[in-house]
Amino acid sequence: MTAPFTSTADVAHFIAGQPFPGTGSRSQAVFNPATGAVARHVRLGTEDDVEAAVSSALEAFPKWADTPPIRRARIMLKFLELMNSHKEELAAIITAEHGKVLSDAIGEVSRGIDIIEFACGIPQLLKGDYTDQVSTGMDNWTLRQPLGVVAGITPFNFPCMVPCWMFPVAIAAGNCFILKPSERDPSASLLMARLLQEAGLPDGVFNVVQGDKAVVDALLHHPDIRAVSFVGSTPIANYIYETGARLGKRVQALGGAKNHMVVMPDADIDQAVDALVGAGYGSAGERCMAISVAVLVGDVADKIVPKLAERAKALVIKNGMEPDAEMGPIVTGQALERIEGYIALGVEEGAELLVDGRNYKVPGHESGFFTGGTLFDHVTPDMRIYKEEIFGPVLSCVRVKDFTEAVRLVNAHEFGNGVACYTQDGNVAREFSRRIEVGMVGINVPIPVPMAWHGFGGWKRSLFGDMHAYGEEGVRFYTRQKSVMQRWPQSIAKGAEFAMPTAK
Ligand code: NAD
Repeated sequence: MTAPFTSTADVAHFIAGQPFPGTGSRSQAVFNPATGAVARHVRLGTEDDVEAAVSSALEAFPKWADTPPIRRARIMLKFLELMNSHKEELAAIITAEHGKVLSDAIGEVSRGIDIIEFACGIPQLLKGDYTDQVSTGMDNWTLRQPLGVVAGITPFNFPCMVPCWMFPVAIAAGNCFILKPSERDPSASLLMARLLQEAGLPDGVFNVVQGDKAVVDALLHHPDIRAVSFVGSTPIANYIYETGARLGKRVQALGGAKNHMVVMPDADIDQAVDALVGAGYGSAGERCMAISVAVLVGDVADKIVPKLAERAKALVIKNGMEPDAEMGPIVTGQALERIEGYIALGVEEGAELLVDGRNYKVPGHESGFFTGGTLFDHVTPDMRIYKEEIFGPVLSCVRVKDFTEAVRLVNAHEFGNGVACYTQDGNVAREFSRRIEVGMVGINVPIPVPMAWHGFGGWKRSLFGDMHAYGEEGVRFYTRQKSVMQRWPQSIAKGAEFAMPTAK
């Protein structure tokens, strides 16, 4: 087993290719969620720290933007190799600060690595269009150029993968990047910064400023930051989008979720149960693509609910470093309290609590932030436990009479991140994919996180902005198109033209 991450040193910033202690005096505790103990502190950055990061990025930008894409890609390729060889180390850091089980952390790093691999194809992705002879003797082509200095603000639940949705594409496209990681699990960002440097990335192209709202606001308001990518909860995503857009920035702000899994009467019941247990309780439900609502169609509920209850009670919950752990602790005590508050609310609202995960104790880790798997049945759409994002291992079963009611239910929800449908009927699957108002759909796939070249993004209040993360939309987000029309003196007719030019 990989050694747990044990450094007690303060987590600081990384600016201009150097660890940077920061100019402020504020810091925040970072916990080991499995023990509940404070493991280290993270420095909370200031406006001056943001200024230092922006000036280092501005200084690096002209040369980096001018570096041929294939040479930028070669640095990415080296970074890809280094990320692969440090996968376990990075995963151990994630487990130590986030709490997710080690195999899940390794999976997270692998999905991040996929996007680095995608970014290695940047010469092909930046290739423009060319039209010969748009008018006699005149050609027209388009090219995509980097924006300049761009920033990414990321959530706690994927401290490696979500930053990798952003910076590999941004950097490969020729931008300089400032990452503001979550203050709850900030250490993975610094290992990635070191590996980028080892891969040969020039100083200043990638910077990390740790912190909270103060840093986010300084980034949002900085006039030299051209684009902001954000991933986190919906109220903050909304704020980032409105503020950034008002200040003239390009913004992509991915928000919260409430993902449904519709189980049709013809579905394979055991497969559906496996999917609900894995997608509902995996990573302790702290995934934006976790399934939190099982929509049980017709008589399927009576077959599925008892099996789900049995499985929720049998989850192996312990320190995520233990090889047989299926579910680790919740990220912080505060998050745990919030989740358990929702369980109490569900009871008050009249849902039937079949499995109660509250007050779960792991022997030897009594102060850890653990909760068990929770299962509610007979949840109705008017309940807050149905409407709001709980972001914990709480699965709600909603019973509906038919396919039409299931689709209507999902489409009426304010979030539209991910959704799944379990069925063996091709026509139902096709109708579901076409009619559902959700950005990412799984047919017999519970967590349909798109691959690196397809792009990630929800609909409705799960995404503010119009481009998805990574994939070709990611490349578009981090570049702007320029169109060039060109002719040579031999093909220019004499005399001024006063009419709108047309093809001749
Ligand atoms: P969060 O919104 O609390 O924090 C996200 C980022 O915003 C962090 O870097 C944090 O420091 C910063 N932040 C927090 N409060 C702020 C404020 N008042 N002003 C400015 N910035 C602020 O989210 P979280 O708890 O870290 O992550 C979980 C949330 O992220 C869930 O809602 C989950 O659904 C969402 N999420 C969404 C996606 C997606 O792709 N749609 C992916 C992962 C997580």
